[in-house]
Amino acid sequence: MRAGADGERRYLDYAASAPPYPEALDAQAEAARRWFGNPSAGHAAGRSAALELRRLKTAFARALDFPDGRVVLMSGATEANNWVIRSVMARFPQGRVLVAADVHASVWQAARLFEARMDVLAPDRTGRVTPAALADALRPDTRLFCCSHAVNETGVVHDVAALSALCARRGVLCHADGAQAVGHVPVRLSELCCEFYVFAAHKFGGPRGCGGVCLRWAGGAGWLAGGEQEDGLRAGTENLPGLAGAAVALGRSLATLPREAERLRALACRLAAAARGADAACRLNGDPAAGLPGLVSLSFAGLDGHALAADLDHQGFEVGTGSACAGSRPAPSRALLAAGLSPEEALGTVRVSMGRLTGEIDVDAVIAALTATVRRHRG
Ligand code: PLP
Repeated sequence: MRAGADGERRYLDYAASAPPYPEALDAQAEAARRWFGNPSAGHAAGRSAALELRRLKTAFARALDFPDGRVVLMSGATEANNWVIRSVMARFPQGRVLVAADVHASVWQAARLFEARMDVLAPDRTGRVTPAALADALRPDTRLFCCSHAVNETGVVHDVAALSALCARRGVLCHADGAQAVGHVPVRLSELCCEFYVFAAHKFGGPRGCGGVCLRWAGGAGWLAGGEQEDGLRAGTENLPGLAGAAVALGRSLATLPREAERLRALACRLAAAARGADAACRLNGDPAAGLPGLVSLSFAGLDGHALAADLDHQGFEVGTGSACAGSRPAPSRALLAAGLSPEEALGTVRVSMGRLTGEIDVDAVIAALTATVRRHRG
């Protein structure tokens, strides 16, 4: 692996996966050693694992201000998003699902399984899904509305409190995908009226393969054939060690959240201003001063975002792009098109996402590398 000019590699793709807190990995390993019993088993080892699982869930729910709420563990946000949509659509065979156009692929593709009953709500020109637009888009037979709390591609933070309150008034279930939001922006589930709030531990410094849904709806059913774990909602032995790591990571991120949010937003604004100053065609997506802390999405119309990211990777900077590779040709991101970008702009997008280990020195370095790389690609 080739390093950056000063010999270091710089990880700037926190929105894809954040580096885990060492304490979270320690807690995960300790829990795996201590509570190895299967929580479904009736013997002492199983009973103490079941108790610990309950304790961890209570602590996790409390940290999200969801004191009496139910946490259903799954393998991550992809599975949880699929579970929500499949459960509701199975429960209401004539009902429709309304999906914000900027949701993650796991929400979009799950809703597309019910394409004939799916409606799409576009964000406005600033990337926001407004309550007024939602009110217009809900149909009498809409049963479920799905949105992201924070959009993974643009960093836009939606007003889930207002959107879910409107859903509640209209008798529509609300599903918020909080995979990018938890640990990064304040999440108080007692103030949100959503029936489903999805999380994924690896996005806030916890372990991979641990996520799930904070649930306020009693109508769901499991869709994996198997045991009766999670009250029959999700078969398979619970990932207790993963949750132990997730709880520590959540505690750590919440302890520093206000300070970190301010610091990362300042770094993001600096990067955005420098990139726009260096390239007249650069478009900034979302608002780094108010969005997901540390996320900057930049579109360079006429350039290839994948080629820019690959070049930066070669120089030691690990960043994301705004498009998925479908086969050999990248396809412009649906979320970016929904935010009003042209396909050319969407294909020229680079996403830099910073986190707790990112410092000013990294931002200075990526500004220098990005501006030089863009100039070279233009030339
Ligand atoms: N939802 C959002 C908003 C995401 O950003 C991601 C991951 O990028 C996911 C869902 C999928 O999460 P997981 O990797 O836990 O399945």
